[in-house]
Amino acid sequence: MQALTKRSKVVVNKQLSFVEKLYLPAILGGMRITLTHLFKKSATVKYPEKKRAISNVYRGQHVLKRDENGAERCTACGLCAVACPAEAITMLSAERKKGEEALYREEKYASVYEINMLRCIFCGLCEEACPKEAIFLTNRIVPVEFERNDFIYGKDKLVEPMEKDKRIDVSIRETTEVAEFKKHNEYGHNQVWDGSKAIDTKKKKKAH
Ligand code: SF4
Ligand code: SF4
Repeated sequence: MQALTKRSKVVVNKQLSFVEKLYLPAILGGMRITLTHLFKKSATVKYPEKKRAISNVYRGQHVLKRDENGAERCTACGLCAVACPAEAITMLSAERKKGEEALYREEKYASVYEINMLRCIFCGLCEEACPKEAIFLTNRIVPVEFERNDFIYGKDKLVEPMEKDKRIDVSIRETTEVAEFKKHNEYGHNQVWDGSKAIDTKKKKKAH
């Protein structure tokens, strides 16, 4: 049969010569290649002592965002878990009780939210699926652990800190369309809630 490409090699049953049977030329050839690599720039870095520069939009460790008032944005709708091709996300939902409005933005929230970082392929589909801007990937690298269970990240590791100066800025991940949409305070999605009442942030800004 005629080959489709000219890359095929005809194999011949060639007998080794006396010198080839000594394997010395092959060993010396291998050592020559090893020696040349000693003087080349290393392709690896000594992580974690040395870190490579990474892009600002690098998809690393996730964050579960809070809104401006500090309430958790996630409403446990499960869309991120459905979108996840690696089935890395699991959650349990609970109903918000009276008096918990400052803790949870929506009437339903995730009482348990877990991501298995060993399963995650950092594709970002959970971020794209989320209708509440609750989950984002950040440029933080997931630290190395020794136990498999330590790679299951719960809310303690995922939800961002309450303190405003410790919040995780994800604005770099916003598309221009999202940034434009967020300027419209009249949409419920963009409103800031104080208990069960929406605050008019535009009025608030003018007053200052
Ligand atoms: S980044 Fe991809 S793989 Fe990881 S949790 Fe999100 S959807 Fe799943
Ligand atoms: S992170 Fe977003 S998509 Fe996932 S459950 Fe919470 S609100 Fe839904």
